[in-house]
Amino acid sequence: MRFRITIRSHPWLLGICFAGGVICGAQAQSKMLFENASLIIGDGSVLTSHDLLIEDGLIVSLGEDLPPPDTGLVVDLQGKWVMPALIDAHAHLGFQSRQSWGADNYNLENLTDNLDQYAYYGFGAVFSAGSDPAELAQLLTATVRRRNNLPEFLYAAGMAPPGQGPNNQFLEQTGQVQARTGLQVLYGVTDPESARKTVTDLALQGFKFLKIWVDDRGGSQTKLAPEIYRAVAERAGEAGLKVFVHQQNASDMLDLISAGVDGFLHGRIGHDFTEQLIARAEQSDVFVIPNLGLGELRREAIGEDQFLTPFLSQRLRKSLSASPLRHVQPIWGAANESELVAGFARIEAGGLDLVLGTDAGAVPGHPFGYTGHRELEIYVRLGMRPIDALRSATSLAAKHLGLRGLGLLAPGKQASLLVLNSDPTSDIRNTRDIHSVYLNGQRVDRSAIASRTP
Ligand SMILES: [Zn+2]
Repeated sequence: MRFRITIRSHPWLLGICFAGGVICGAQAQSKMLFENASLIIGDGSVLTSHDLLIEDGLIVSLGEDLPPPDTGLVVDLQGKWVMPALIDAHAHLGFQSRQSWGADNYNLENLTDNLDQYAYYGFGAVFSAGSDPAELAQLLTATVRRRNNLPEFLYAAGMAPPGQGPNNQFLEQTGQVQARTGLQVLYGVTDPESARKTVTDLALQGFKFLKIWVDDRGGSQTKLAPEIYRAVAERAGEAGLKVFVHQQNASDMLDLISAGVDGFLHGRIGHDFTEQLIARAEQSDVFVIPNLGLGELRREAIGEDQFLTPFLSQRLRKSLSASPLRHVQPIWGAANESELVAGFARIEAGGLDLVLGTDAGAVPGHPFGYTGHRELEIYVRLGMRPIDALRSATSLAAKHLGLRGLGLLAPGKQASLLVLNSDPTSDIRNTRDIHSVYLNGQRVDRSAIASRTP
């Protein structure tokens, strides 16, 4: 028996129970065939009029005219575009809610809601960069495992000189979380020996990632000294932990690469982001996140963007709409713009892995998920081909985060998919034109997630 389901006309599909209990509840889509879609693989290639067979939350095969599964469940995606779910490799979960920003929001419920928001926007994984107590991060990870329809959650131990690290406003909030919960958020290090010991302890606690801040915040903080970050990177390498860096200066980047770090969470793509630096990073397989939206979007009236509306409480909308600080059509400085365009061209020529990251949640009003789509638009504006921007948000992000099951449409990968009504390879803004999102083969109930906004 073969029956055809058009998702658009049958939104009730999720959760339906068929007679005999073959397809029921969370197993509703245990075996199904997506047909006739354009498949954006995630590695820079596209297959047109292809089918995708999914079983138990995994992609089983890709091909033309695949036979229907024995469940008979076939989803016609004629005219649609299917791509791997997006990945945000730099965010800070827990502090931003749908109403406000700050330490008071930091709890398991809000962390989970942040992940739901990412799911709504088609994300399959998020890396929270050094602002989560391990205990809460582990509870969230357990929630992700149990629900099986949330994006993967990765987290890091944040290291800096004692009492330093995040931007001063955020530092105060992480301190409040620490005070309120009694759980450690940041790990202060003072010398190479204690730094090595701290890394060993963190490895034993189960951390897979370290985040280090190498920044004096305009003279307001103590910068992590080279001998300390070298000790951190060396010990982390021995213990199998990845080290991601917040930094401001290209000169620091060269030394940090020599120290053995794995990636940069703020690229600072400017004149001093030289071919030599790019070549060194590329040779060492170090990635770079430009993180440009963080600076740009705070000058824009994003509260008036329909794509963000589902997550804007009245209060949040007001704070993000047009004001003396936020403009409907912000103007980008021509000099800075040409510097960035030149930097992007050097990155492309040098073959350096540019990875999508947003820093969402680190400051008030830099929303989860939405900012990822906007960041991709910035990459394309600066000269990247849309298909390469999508690669930075899928296979390249997955590779550098060690997410083996994500980032590609290929047999054995998780069926975490973003289905679009229009072609994002011709216009990157079409990533907004979301038809549906699947995580581990389960359709995300996007309207239910959006409906919780107060
Ligand atoms: Zn950050």
